[in-house]
Amino acid sequence: MLMRKQIAAANWKMNGTAQQAEKLLSEVLSGNIDFKDHQYVIFSVPFPFLQQVNQQLGNRPNHFISAQNCSEHASGAYTGEVSAEMLKSIGIKYCIVGHSERREYFGETNMQIARKIDMLLNNDITPIFCCGEPLDVREAGNQDKHVQTQIEESLFHLSANDLLKITIAYEPIWAIGTGKTATTQQAQDMQAYLRLVIEKRYGNEIASQISILYGGSVKANNAAEIFAAPDVDGGLVGGASLIARDFIQIIRALKS
Ligand code: PEP
Repeated sequence: MLMRKQIAAANWKMNGTAQQAEKLLSEVLSGNIDFKDHQYVIFSVPFPFLQQVNQQLGNRPNHFISAQNCSEHASGAYTGEVSAEMLKSIGIKYCIVGHSERREYFGETNMQIARKIDMLLNNDITPIFCCGEPLDVREAGNQDKHVQTQIEESLFHLSANDLLKITIAYEPIWAIGTGKTATTQQAQDMQAYLRLVIEKRYGNEIASQISILYGGSVKANNAAEIFAAPDVDGGLVGGASLIARDFIQIIRALKS
């Protein structure tokens, strides 16, 4: 079987200036990592830096640029919003959708996220779909059902062909930015479960091809252990992606 795409995705969130972005990226690129065909690095950067980062990446194979959000609307009177078509017009290939910070601080619902995904796919942009449970849901033992519903409501309207274009990031909210990583077993159990949920709806051939990343306090010193789990296809990385030396180590931890 072909190896699924293994992805180290940096999520810079709302950090830094244009100058700091340039410096950080050049430091990461100076790592001169030798990428296998199935290994990718994706930089999810703030809107104002998309074009400069894309130019700085140039044509490096296996390196991609990503936005962190897009509008659920195609165009029109939505002041401050950015459409998928705009992203496409400047060469953006990936976009995060449904990050827990957007769900929590901006009230994004599973249905809105479904519409954003449609916008992205209509514009040939790969959605990096985030899902994950809050602490109280985990403590009550209801995490499987919670994440299953997120997936069903945001993805299950897609054809099999379109589902294959999605990258999923499982990010337990209690592990994001907290320094409290899920155990490798917790990540593996959930990600195997999600693959099963997809398999029941779309079949094994589709489910086995979808990359599922883990996110939540992935660091230089724990990435290799987490990424080694069979259903973990790399990570979505916040804090540690802002430290070049650490992010280089995280990229090197991808399954080879
Ligand atoms: C994230 O932003 O998606 C994330 C996982 O952040 P951190 O790595 O800082 O927990």
